Amino acid sequence: MRLKAVHTKPYYRIDEWEIIEDSFDPDRNLHSETIFSVGNGFIGIRGTFEEGLEDDTKPGAEGTFLNGVYEEGTIRYGEMAHGFPEKRQTMINAANGKKIMLRLDNEIFNMQAGNIIDYKRFINMNEGILKRNLTWQSPMGKQIRLETERIVSFKRRNLAAVRYKVTPLNFDGMIKIISEIDGDTKNALGEKDPRIGSGLEEGAFYTVQTMADSETAALFQRTKRTGITVACVAKGALRTECSYTSDKYIRGDRVGYEYTIAGQKGKAIEYTKFIVYEASEESCSSLMSYALKVLESALETGFDELAREQYEFLSDYWYRSDIEIIGDVALQQAIRFNLFHLLQSVGRDGKTNICAKGLTGEGYEGHYFWDTEMYIIPAFLYSNPDISRKLLEYRYGTLDKARERAREMSHKKGALFPWRTINGEECSGYFPAGTAQYHINAAIAHAIKNYMEATQDEGFLLSFGAEILFETARLWADLGYFNANKDGKFCINCVTGPDEYTAIVNNNFYTNIMAKDNLEYAHNTAVWMREYHRPEYDKLAAEIGLEPEETELWKLAADNMYLPYSEKHGIHMQDDTFLDKKVWDFENVPKENYPLLLHYHPLVIYRHQVCKQADVVLALFLLGHKFSLEQKRRDYEYYEQVTTHDSSLSACIFSIVANDIGYHEEAYDYFIKTARMDLDDYQGNTHHGVHTANMAGSWMCIVNGFAGMRVYDDILSFKPYIHPDWKSYSFKITYRGRLIKLTISSSEVSYELLEGNELEITHRDKKYRLKDRLILK
Ligand code: BGC
Repeated sequence: MRLKAVHTKPYYRIDEWEIIEDSFDPDRNLHSETIFSVGNGFIGIRGTFEEGLEDDTKPGAEGTFLNGVYEEGTIRYGEMAHGFPEKRQTMINAANGKKIMLRLDNEIFNMQAGNIIDYKRFINMNEGILKRNLTWQSPMGKQIRLETERIVSFKRRNLAAVRYKVTPLNFDGMIKIISEIDGDTKNALGEKDPRIGSGLEEGAFYTVQTMADSETAALFQRTKRTGITVACVAKGALRTECSYTSDKYIRGDRVGYEYTIAGQKGKAIEYTKFIVYEASEESCSSLMSYALKVLESALETGFDELAREQYEFLSDYWYRSDIEIIGDVALQQAIRFNLFHLLQSVGRDGKTNICAKGLTGEGYEGHYFWDTEMYIIPAFLYSNPDISRKLLEYRYGTLDKARERAREMSHKKGALFPWRTINGEECSGYFPAGTAQYHINAAIAHAIKNYMEATQDEGFLLSFGAEILFETARLWADLGYFNANKDGKFCINCVTGPDEYTAIVNNNFYTNIMAKDNLEYAHNTAVWMREYHRPEYDKLAAEIGLEPEETELWKLAADNMYLPYSEKHGIHMQDDTFLDKKVWDFENVPKENYPLLLHYHPLVIYRHQVCKQADVVLALFLLGHKFSLEQKRRDYEYYEQVTTHDSSLSACIFSIVANDIGYHEEAYDYFIKTARMDLDDYQGNTHHGVHTANMAGSWMCIVNGFAGMRVYDDILSFKPYIHPDWKSYSFKITYRGRLIKLTISSSEVSYELLEGNELEITHRDKKYRLKDRLILK
């Protein structure tokens, strides 16, 4: 199905750097809460209002998430079988530390009551501060001006801060500010949607300790099964010329302060709150002393200085990562929004990763998928390679668990990485579209290869990368076999490829060709280590019991990999039997029945030729140098007809390949869908969280798609194209210690070497030496 995209009427104001909501619409609010989430890779807070929402018919979805902090539950199967994961993992919804309630005499301020005279909720992506400015009139006629600001600090992992400023406009009277840490939070309960997960059966936490002294409130809660203590500690300060009294309270899981202020017309009341989150298996007292240190330093720094720090951090990020599109502000806004959310979501400590929905919602329960290696790592690799390395270090940290999982799955050797996980253990409950996706192993190996090509970080390869490569290669060698029925070719059976609408098949083309690449790269790495780093090789080989014959077997398997092809159609077959199936009735199935996974039993879908997402087409991009242009066109055309793009991971790949084969209008349509997917809610489920893989896909659409960047066999090459609607576009690439800026307009392409030594690049298949600047046609 070709996705035809036109700019839909945008809900948020179009602006190059800001996302602005000009009026409060309760029906759009869940979506906006996701869009206005702020985070720093550890803490993520949905854009819910400080005071919450009163109306139960249209409640918000409160969410404060801590990357990597999760609770386990039991996965209950109707029929259990060997090797089914027994424990679910759910990223917990932590205490709501930003909560501030406001009362004007006996009236409670709430966005759903009274009258909103003017309103703006917005975030500037240079500043990284969520703001809300409004004028409100209470049902009894009292008017206030409210200005709120919220930061989750990029520089201070554990810190969030809120500044809440109220000015009575037409009255003198009692104003109450109630600032709370609310530990009575719950995870969303499952709906009939596999993209949400069925939730934990009971609350994730119990409260171990609460505390409030004259200035500090603290709440310590422990997860029931994983035994993680989550501390939320806050300090607040009130600034006003009006007189006031304050009181503290502890009520169950809630700790707070109540300020009673003799409000005066026109006089501002400003409350600033610093909030620290930390989670560990340590005692409450050591968490408390750490939190106090962070808080003291934050108080000393002050909100304005924190805001300056945030700006500084973002300036560095944008300097290396920004993509400029001149001539289309909606796309400009969207691409920045996507790059901004990626930064807000990504774990940067080597111990956490990036959830499919970032830290913006409970979709997919906070799980990490292959999305990281196939989509997100590439987007960071050429701007912030250190972040990509940290994501790979996370995988390395889970290698032992992947080895255990491989044994559980009866593989004598190797490691099998989990399809879905937080802690490194497999937790996907539906194996046909979960564990069966063995291609995640190849995705990880592929990301290591890309990382090495872009950075030449041999230290990484020797300490972490090689071991992952060897263990993933071993897994393929153990899984597949030389099949006499297929001329002795190496076959891989009973796996699921990226397309989740086709499950448990023999010889999924994508899996086989990526496994081949994994095996080849592991073999080459072993040969290289034996030649240049013998001691490291011997040590690693001894540790993992690697025999010399094994690396030879990898080469043999790679050289003889079976890649299904249909001579009749002149295309790669998605798997051995894909083309034998009846084609899905695209013409007569109504639009409302998409995504198919919500309307048809999996078997109905599996019986048909219908793809949820790019599968063969993804291989055409990743290993594009292995296919002729004609071949790519035939494959693309065939699979486009049978792909629904029900997965958000699809449109970007079709956009890239469409550009590669010269179908630029199609590429442009797919790009619009990709770039504005969350802002315009194209998938209809952004309220569950943003789609991080797709967001990274929008970076790929520009860099790999429109600019045609590829790195194959040590050659950095480009084939830029500019859409007639754009005046120019530009971006920077960090590559082997260089910083290169590309600017593409309809008349020329400029390559500027901003940092590092000269290098050879390929522009439209011709080689050039880039010294300072090259201007080419
Ligand atoms: C896609 C997977 C993806 C997952 C998480 C699913 O809909 O089919 O490929 O890994 O979402 O983003």
